[in-house]
Amino acid sequence: MTDLKPQLIRFALHGGAGDMPPKDHGYAEQQQAMREIAERAQAALIAGTTALDVVQQAVEALEDCPLFNAGHGAVLNREGVAELDAAIMDGDGRAGAVGACQRVRNPVQLARALLDDGRHVMFAGPNADAAAQRHGIALADPAYFVTELRAAQQKKALASNRIVLDHDEPFGDAKGTVGAVARDGFGNLAAATSTGGMTNKIPGRVGDSPIIGAGTWANNATCAVSATGHGESYIRANLAAQMHWRMALACASLEAAADEALEDVREIGGTGGLIAIAANGDMVLPHTTTGMFRASFSGDGAVATGALD
Ligand code: ASP
Repeated sequence: MTDLKPQLIRFALHGGAGDMPPKDHGYAEQQQAMREIAERAQAALIAGTTALDVVQQAVEALEDCPLFNAGHGAVLNREGVAELDAAIMDGDGRAGAVGACQRVRNPVQLARALLDDGRHVMFAGPNADAAAQRHGIALADPAYFVTELRAAQQKKALASNRIVLDHDEPFGDAKGTVGAVARDGFGNLAAATSTGGMTNKIPGRVGDSPIIGAGTWANNATCAVSATGHGESYIRANLAAQMHWRMALACASLEAAADEALEDVREIGGTGGLIAIAANGDMVLPHTTTGMFRASFSGDGAVATGALD
């Protein structure tokens, strides 16, 4: 293995984008949770942990935290059940993904097991839960994922016959989809994303997060991307892969690739954001919404967090 170069290290997290209402406290709780997870990621990357392991660990921590729309505390579908989507991709081209699983405690862990296994990229629904069992990944009772806040939000969304993006949630606090991108000290890129999708979604709906090339992407020659926003628009715009192709074939900068891809999403009628790191170390965290929960750092520099703006 080549020597670790701490100056290569880059890392970003998101906790969802949307038109969130202003808050006196500026969503301090979410920012603090993201700061702690980013600081752990920084220590791990400096100690030589790979980008792939670090994005998985960060997303797992966010899945366990009820302040976000992933794992425990995810939004609920029309039947009041959490159906979870997640993906992980390594810059060497390997990928794993799960859609609409109901019993996998940490969906990104199953995505990682599929990446390592290598035979199939994606499992969905009850068969994803069965795959977790085969891989020795912890399952949870579906009730584990449900919080009081999410149950109340879903009832209100059902009563008004709406399917609601988490941050645009008119029925409670914004607690969004999660994702991480990293470049490790060896120059490898990786990305991971995890979500419960949209409140009151129709059962079986799968969003962009687990679709490789839509909400999640990594390629060591170009970029690592994790997206958040209106999933249907991100799938139709093929957002994450189009950033790769703009960089690979048109020599676009990371910033230009991200802006143009988000513009495509906007033209389709969707809003949201993304976090991305380029092979050359550029890092961008753009969003077309009033806010996006985020945290990032370069090398051994300070962790910066943000919410509104
Ligand atoms: N992109 C996610 C989905 O559509 C939702 C989000 O990012 O808030 O499932």
